[in-house]
Amino acid sequence: MLKWVVYDLGGTIVNLDNSEQKAMQIVVELLKNMGYSISVDDIKKSKIAASEKLEKLKSAHVEKWKLFLTVLENMNINIKKDDAIKLSNIYDDVYVRFSTLLPNAESILNETRRRGFKVALLSDGWNKTCRGILRYLDIENYFDVIFTSEDFGKRKLEGLFSDFCVAVRCKPKDCLVIGNDEKKDGISQSIGMHFCCIGGNGEFSVSKLNEITNVLDYFDSNVKLKCFFCGVQTDNSIFCNNCKTKAIETVKKSNEETGLYTDICKYYGRDVIEEVLQGPINLRKEWLDQNPVTEKEILNFYRTNKNEIFDLTLFHSAPHVIQQDKRIEKIIKNKGGTFLDFGAGIGHLTVNIGKTGIKTFHADLDGNTRNYAIWRAREKDSDVNFIDVKLDNTKYDSIACTDVIEHHPDPSKLIRYLSRRLKRGGIFLINEKFQRKNNIDILHPMHLMSSSNISLIELIRQIKMLKLVERFGRNFFVLQKL
Ligand SMILES: [Zn+2]
Repeated sequence: MLKWVVYDLGGTIVNLDNSEQKAMQIVVELLKNMGYSISVDDIKKSKIAASEKLEKLKSAHVEKWKLFLTVLENMNINIKKDDAIKLSNIYDDVYVRFSTLLPNAESILNETRRRGFKVALLSDGWNKTCRGILRYLDIENYFDVIFTSEDFGKRKLEGLFSDFCVAVRCKPKDCLVIGNDEKKDGISQSIGMHFCCIGGNGEFSVSKLNEITNVLDYFDSNVKLKCFFCGVQTDNSIFCNNCKTKAIETVKKSNEETGLYTDICKYYGRDVIEEVLQGPINLRKEWLDQNPVTEKEILNFYRTNKNEIFDLTLFHSAPHVIQQDKRIEKIIKNKGGTFLDFGAGIGHLTVNIGKTGIKTFHADLDGNTRNYAIWRAREKDSDVNFIDVKLDNTKYDSIACTDVIEHHPDPSKLIRYLSRRLKRGGIFLINEKFQRKNNIDILHPMHLMSSSNISLIELIRQIKMLKLVERFGRNFFVLQKL
């Protein structure tokens, strides 16, 4: 479960664009009074040189007055320690007073707290300066912890994020980092933290701070959702109270065609309509609670979750999905021979097709959902062969892979893998429901973010083994192996 939201400071919630310039101007004035004539540009140049020098001594976070001394020494200006401390304090004071809050910073911090996440500030810089800015802008109280690179003796690119996780005793994957620097803040992704980049690319990308609410929604298991039928805000369900009756009627009416509702009630030995209607929400909650990130964690989620059975029952009870399923069934029946459903779930296709004489293979991970599909096949006296997702070299006349690739970490690899298991002239049925940048699917956090913006059809073109025969619905493709 996401626990920490880790904010960067400069450029993320605070504008520091004028701070350095103004602070340096004051220092130039003060030095002028002391008889030294230098410009802001001189200091800037010298600061870079001094930082490099100090870095070599592995003391990038020396006290600020020491940095001041080194910067001035570089310009052949030698002042006393006391004067350096004085100058450094004045510099800091001006630096802080020229900081401003970025638009919506306070409301987004407030929003982050309201949702029950812990809030951290993690910044490359000096602790005193950082706290000074937070106090001056009156936002210090929004943070549970405030850490700077000075506190850990290393900066973001040097492993600060790992040290943060250790310090707050939190798994990296249970933290969301929000920053404006693709590199410095984005490095958090390499240790498995979630990352949202403002004005750049990351796991999540937004252009403005207020868009962070969408990302918080994504991780918030109590988020307010909209009724599937009428669009009003619901109390943590897919259907509002008014539309619930209509939803129940739809499931029961669909049952006349699919038998899915009868099956699931029989399997559980009671009426499970409530669980069916709540399936997507409860599955989402399970995903967010586990927050699986690695392939192993994701596979474990699909093997052990309790709600995919209900979720898929509701999905395949929707009239437009039934129409699509029927169309797929017809294509497979026309082709005949052998059929593989990859990621076959509750067997919405395999159990029907297994009764037609077509040699049917149901490939999915072992676990709760597959056990239910096995039970359904037996119950319906359907001849289905249940196999693992690790396929042998058997070649099939048709393969379906529907509502699957958006769950797979490497869609291109999966499509190639399945294409090789088609006979020449074989039929491949596939669709996709990726989340795209700036288009977060709150209800389906398990739909992985598309790693590229390449569309499915573009992906298929690149693979060159498949020819497009037909396209229907929003994103459904019928392909043929060349
Ligand atoms: Zn409604």
